[in-house]
Amino acid sequence: MFQFKQISQAYEVLSDSKKRELYDRGGEQAIKEGGAGSSGFGSPMDIFDMFFGGGGRMQRERRGKNVVHQLSVSLEDLYNGATRKLSLQKNVICEKCEGRGGRKGAVECCSNCRGTGMQIKIHQIGLGMVQQIQSTCPECLGKGERISAKDRCKSCTGRKTVRQKKILEVHIDKGMKDGQVITFHGEGDQEPGLEPGDIVIVLDMKEHTLYKRRGEDLIMHMEVELVEALCGFQRPVTTLDNRTIIIMSHPGQIVKHGDLKCILNEGMPIYRRPFEKGRLIIQFKVNFPKNGFLESEKLFQLEKLLPPRKMIETEEIMEQVELVEFDPSTERRQYYKGEAYHEDDEDSHPRGGVQCQTS
Ligand SMILES: [Zn+2]
Ligand SMILES: [Zn+2]
Repeated sequence: MFQFKQISQAYEVLSDSKKRELYDRGGEQAIKEGGAGSSGFGSPMDIFDMFFGGGGRMQRERRGKNVVHQLSVSLEDLYNGATRKLSLQKNVICEKCEGRGGRKGAVECCSNCRGTGMQIKIHQIGLGMVQQIQSTCPECLGKGERISAKDRCKSCTGRKTVRQKKILEVHIDKGMKDGQVITFHGEGDQEPGLEPGDIVIVLDMKEHTLYKRRGEDLIMHMEVELVEALCGFQRPVTTLDNRTIIIMSHPGQIVKHGDLKCILNEGMPIYRRPFEKGRLIIQFKVNFPKNGFLESEKLFQLEKLLPPRKMIETEEIMEQVELVEFDPSTERRQYYKGEAYHEDDEDSHPRGGVQCQTS
């Protein structure tokens, strides 16, 4: 699954306007000294660019923060394409005060920070050593300005923006992938004096019960009976766009246990080339009949129809040993007396069906 949390955490650091302001003034070093708590990334802006294709630093400076939303989708949605309506809350510039926060001329520069929104304290920490600590101005809460209570806009109570419900139509194109990003440019929160950021939708795919996706291919498992594996079969399968296709194996076409076979053009549509599709890969499980399914008389008849077995030579001095069921949870000494059993034997998985050993 897509590591949404990780990216959104990184994103949080980057989109935090105060931290970014620090960056814009003093570069990366300022963020570190400002105690952003974002250690672990070489340069936070690199990650920003990597995931969200941001431009240069100049472009970022006058932009509001982006908002990331996760959208849960099914494999069917990614196969057929879909449209989703996403309802969300966002900050928009207050219409009443046109984003000033109060009546015209009521906005004063904060005297505590002289409009910077930042407070710098200098501590003596040793002989001739000083430490400079930068923090948000407590008077204006980092805004750099003040509006007296009586002049504040009634609509936004001086915050300059109001919360508004927004409905976004998200178009999921055929062939899109888990973790794919859909960007709505300029639809992020509005802030006075800033170009609004983007709303970023990240697709999060739910697992499908029948199909697994691997790139452009789909993978499914299919169980067939031994008779079908040897004599052919027809098997209906429902596709992700709800068609029924009949998977055919002709008589004489052998399907072995664990075999991989595929159907061309029944995989995922290719993004931006939706008329082309990948493969549907089928992994087969062959169900063998139960012990004693045929009496020995009929087994003899069956044997005559099957390809002949290899003849083996035995000698008097050879000891005959019994074959019993293998139970990995039981201690081996209950079953094995000698050292003939190798623990690292890869064939201990019952995969290949019956194997005849010749000596
Ligand atoms: Zn207002
Ligand atoms: Zn201030």
